[in-house]
Order: sequence, then C-alpha cells, then structure tokens
Amino acid sequence: MASARIIDLLRGTQGLGQIGDTCTVRGWVRTKREGKGIAFLELNDGSSLQGLQIVLPQTIDDYEALIKQINTGTSIEATGLLVESMGKGQKVEVQATAIAVFGNADPETYPLQKKRHSIEFLRTIAHLRPRTNMFGAVFRVRNACAYAVHQFFQERGFIWVHTPIMTASDCEGAGEMFGVTTFDLNEIAAAGKSVDFTEDFFGKPAFLTVSGQLEAEIMATAFSNVYTFGPTFRAENSNTSRHLAEFWMIEPEVAFCDLEGDADLAEDFLKYIVKYVLETCPEDMEFFQERVNDQVMINARKIVDQQFERITYTEAIAILEKCSKKFEFPVSWGLDLQSEHERFLAEEHFQKPVIVMDYPLGIKAFYMRVNDGTASDRQTVRAMDILAPGVGEIIGGSQREERLDVLEARIRSVGLNPEDYWWYLDLRRYGTVPHAGFGLGFERLVQFITGMGNIRDVIPFPRFPQSAEF
Ligand code: ATP
Ligand code: MN
Repeated sequence: MASARIIDLLRGTQGLGQIGDTCTVRGWVRTKREGKGIAFLELNDGSSLQGLQIVLPQTIDDYEALIKQINTGTSIEATGLLVESMGKGQKVEVQATAIAVFGNADPETYPLQKKRHSIEFLRTIAHLRPRTNMFGAVFRVRNACAYAVHQFFQERGFIWVHTPIMTASDCEGAGEMFGVTTFDLNEIAAAGKSVDFTEDFFGKPAFLTVSGQLEAEIMATAFSNVYTFGPTFRAENSNTSRHLAEFWMIEPEVAFCDLEGDADLAEDFLKYIVKYVLETCPEDMEFFQERVNDQVMINARKIVDQQFERITYTEAIAILEKCSKKFEFPVSWGLDLQSEHERFLAEEHFQKPVIVMDYPLGIKAFYMRVNDGTASDRQTVRAMDILAPGVGEIIGGSQREERLDVLEARIRSVGLNPEDYWWYLDLRRYGTVPHAGFGLGFERLVQFITGMGNIRDVIPFPRFPQSAEF
C-alpha cells in the first residue's frame, strides 16, 4: 500500500490530511507513552520537524507484544484513520488499526534515547544524528538552500557547469591542496627512491580542486552566464568553526559584467536564498530561533529587507581606525580585514550586510582587475567581500583582469609562471571581455541561515583534521 509523507498529512498537502481518511505512514518512532489500555507513539519520517501522533488502542492485534517491541528508534508502518487530535500542537493524529514493525532498536544500546545530547556527542554518531530534531532541521534547510541556488540561476538563464575535481594546474596557494596520486608511498619509501611524478597517473603532480573559478571563466567566455556548484577541498590545518577540508562552493561567473554588476548579483542571490528558506521551512527556522540562536530571524530579515551597505576598503579602514573598539589584530591600510573587523562593520557599525570593495592589490589574488585612475587607484583591485551580521565574510568576488599585458605582469609579480596559465591567458588573447564573479561557501551560507555555531554540523559527514569517519 502506498504510504503518505507525514508532512502532507500535517499540512493537508498533496490532497492528503482529510479527517476521516484511511492512511498509511512509515517512519521511526521518536517517543512512546503508555496510558491505561492505550499507547501513543510519535512517528517521524524526516519530512518535517513535527512528528505524527499514532494512537494504539488496546484492541489492536497483539497489543501487549507490540508495545514491548516498539521503542525509540524502532521503524514501523502504521495504518489507521486520520482523526482530529485532542493533544495540543497537532491538528491530526492516526488511530491505528494495524502496525507492522520493520526493525527493532534495543533501548539498552540505541544511542539516541529521548534526552538532550550534546552536539559534540552527536558529531561522533553522524550516522544517527540525522534522526534528531536539530539535524533533521539542518539538513532540510540545507536541501532548500541547494534547490534555491539552482532555481535562482536557472531562472536567470545561467548554465550550470561542472568543473574538474582533480586538477593538475597548481593554481592557487599550493600549500592548502590535497595531493592526488596512484603511487604506493610505502613502496617508494621502502625502496628509498625519490618521487618521479612523470611516472604518476597524470604525468605530473595532481591535486583536489580548491576552486572552479578559472575553469568557470573559460565557460563564461562562451556561455556568458554560468555557475558552478560542487565540492571543493582545502587541506586547512586550522581547526576552526568555519573551515572544513571538504566543502561545497557556488561560483557564478558573468561575462560583460563589472564589479558593481557582480555586487548586484550577489545581493539579489543572498536575498533570494534566504527568502526561499523563510517561506519553505518556517517550522525549521522557528526551531533554530528558539533552540539554537535567537539572532537567526533578525539576521535573516536583515538580508531580505535591507539594502546592503556599499563601502570601499579605504572607507572601511577609516571607520575601523576611528572607532573606539579595541581589536586583537591591527588595522592599517594594506592589511587584510580580520573576522573581528568584518563583524564589527556588519554587526555594530552598519547593523546590516556590508559590501566592501576595492581592496589593496597586495592582499588579493593575481586575477583581480587592477583599478583604473590615479596612481593610488592603481594600488587597488576590483574585489568585493560581502560581510554579514553573525558570520563576517560570506561571499568573496571580483571583476577579473581582462587585459592580457596587465594580467601577465601580475602573474609574474606574484612569482608564478605565465606559461602555466597559457589557456587562462588565451581567454584574454582571443575575444577578451570584462567579466566578474564570486564564490560562496555553501556551508557558510547554511551556517548563517541556521545559526549553527560550528560548520561541522551543517554538512552530513564533515571532513576535518584527523577525522574522515563515515
Ligand atoms: P577564509 O578567509 O574564511 O579562510 P578564504 O579567503 O580562504 O576564506 P576564498 O578562497 O575566497 O576563502 O573561498 C571562497 C569562499 O569559500 C569563502 O568566502 C568561504 O565562504 C568558503 N570557504 C573557504 N574556505 C573554506 C573552508 N575551509 N571550509 C568551508 N568554506 C570555506
Ligand atoms: Mn582560507
């Protein structure tokens, strides 16, 4: 028999949820309460935060045996009549006429008993934590975000492009890259040989990608508007609450676009995603607001309702220098903004999202466009970071250098070899166009929206130093 999703019964969607209907539901028991000659189960199938109450009357076949067998974690199928619920907080419940048990969960050993578990403990049971209220909410919101990302770009005619996961061009700071090899390192070590990468799979050192941007630029100079949305890897040794070794990144790239257009796109994008989540996951968002972080709704509304402030890096430095706040890290023109500075600007000074533009050339990547204008203008590049209350930097983007001679000089000046970037330079050699894009760490976005304190708790199976379980 076809079974119904619990959310449809609770919300009355998909033509379901009518009082008097017979229905079948499947899921995992969250709680069991026994009364006199009656038992109440709360069943959850992951479709919503709220579970469905299943009432077991004593008259049901094998009542005594069933009640013994069913515990927190047991998987069951319940069939019965949908009736109005007397309990508060729920409109409907099921008067069960038949129960089938799929699998038991021994209460002596099942780790998710009905009590508060610490988030750190739950991280050690990542194979079971999706069955908790908190992680159910996180991963439903994560899914809504992913859907909204595609919807936003597809509605605007962007092509989703798939950039390589393995790459042999050691594009950016090679220090943070994971190597990819088919060599048997033990064998090489035992033989006392030195490593000869010409003998390796790709004939040269290869790595897991840290960004799809350069390849996205290739695609943008053919399709005009593209985006990537895929896994990214960084061998970050920093054990922070904002860094993962494996995370997902969204990188739109737009031809015939300057930095202002890029900032407009990024602002529209963030507003769209947050609005979508507020509309489609109201229960889950209420859960985060009440149980995780009481700033969640305020921060979300700031994204949706407020026009983002736009300032230059030079203006940001002036604000930070003038303010009375004591920072741990120094503030001075030419130094990068630290998280504490970013949060001060977004949370305290402007109290809304801030887009900082035109950073010093010395602290930004070689591919960012050098500003036109006076000698001091030419000390800055067309970079922009979006700073959000609660997290600090959430998006980093730039207009790309489209002038061949300037780009070549920049590559040399940062100590890289232009020959390694022959195909990237070809994009400027043949039919070059002004273009711009940005990168958004998907987990940082989910972290912002849910208010979860640690990035390890917004991806189902986090990868970080000393941890690749599950
Ligand atoms: P940070 O200063 O936070 O380390 P970054 O400057 O290294 O960030 P970029 O290279 O600009 O970041 O990467 C683009 C986006 O990817 C960032 O804005 C951030 O949202 C995300 N990101 C970067 N590193 C990580 C990571 N290790 N784990 C999760 N997300 C990350
Ligand atoms: Mn970093």
